[in-house]
Amino acid sequence: MSKILEKALNTQFLEKSEIVELLYAENAEQIFFAADKVRKEYKGDAIHLRGLIEFSNICKRNCNYCGLRKDNKSIERYRLTKEEILDCTKSAVELGYKTLVLQSGEDSYFDIERLSEIISEIKKYDVAVTLSIGEKTFDEYKSLKLCGADRYLIRIETTDKNLYEACHPDMNFQNRIDCLKYLKNLGYETGSGCLVGLPNQTIESLADDILFFKSINADMIGIGPFIPCENTPFENLKAGDFYLALKVMAIARLLLPDINIPATTAMETLKKDGQILALQSGANVIMPNITDEKHKKLYKIYPNKGAYNEKDNPKKYRDCLSQKLLSIGRFVSDTKGFRKDI
Ligand code: SAH
Ligand code: SF4
Repeated sequence: MSKILEKALNTQFLEKSEIVELLYAENAEQIFFAADKVRKEYKGDAIHLRGLIEFSNICKRNCNYCGLRKDNKSIERYRLTKEEILDCTKSAVELGYKTLVLQSGEDSYFDIERLSEIISEIKKYDVAVTLSIGEKTFDEYKSLKLCGADRYLIRIETTDKNLYEACHPDMNFQNRIDCLKYLKNLGYETGSGCLVGLPNQTIESLADDILFFKSINADMIGIGPFIPCENTPFENLKAGDFYLALKVMAIARLLLPDINIPATTAMETLKKDGQILALQSGANVIMPNITDEKHKKLYKIYPNKGAYNEKDNPKKYRDCLSQKLLSIGRFVSDTKGFRKDI
């Protein structure tokens, strides 16, 4: 294992067979340590906080793992108004957020005209805007970019086409890949990522996922363990393995040393202090949820989202988090945190 890690540190490249060997390794401490070292060298000790606004839980898709899927009739649906989104923005800016992430289900009500208006208003605050609103056409992505969106998150979820199709009954694998290409071509900082622990997912396919992130030169990578959610076709499956997800994340750091990598909420949901462990294994970003209490509860992608944090109001949470970060030798960044900044 030491030889493979040394090669990764020297060349930022690994063969699939080498990634597979790391993913199978029993004692992964060395991998986490190497990823932490790379993170420190390329990104420093600053943590970028991205304020997450979950502005609609209405979705036309039917991803088999997700609580927001269209056929889940048991959740109460909502959309924030433009005014609510802008109020949330204002509070976030006052708390010091330099990036806002607008996330939702694929909700056609928020067409390009409505989204453009919202993005243009948010951009008046001099913050970076990240969108996480699913699949659109090239022209739609282009319009959103022109009105100020800086970044876009769209996970490939898995690069195993058969598995992708088994998880996404109404979606097209090639289209997902095309979306990532459009975003890159349009100059978005482009984020992807995968779920770890999907049914019948293999270690080999996770290695392919990592090589895929490298091949598209992703600017951000979010790795989330799968968490079963009630009232979905996958409700009775077991959750993904926290340490396997951590390994996938750490290896992504080794191969893409200068990108932004969030310590995902799903990691914290599966394991207390999971996000801190992630920050010590290659991650350099946290996305605190700043949606108001009432709506946050209704955005049930999976149960107990943010179970161990974010119970308090956004200010209290941010203060607590800053203290916690200082205790591990890290601090909250005051920049927008693009890939190329430190
Ligand atoms: N609709 C957009 C954004 C919201 S979903 C989209 O799909 O891109 C954001 C992410 O939540 C998805 O990419 C998926 O990886 C993750 N997710 C959904 N259900 C999940 C579950 N049960 N466990 C863990 N992550 C999940
Ligand atoms: Fe909709 Fe995204 Fe959930 Fe799929 S993962 S059902 S697109 S919110």
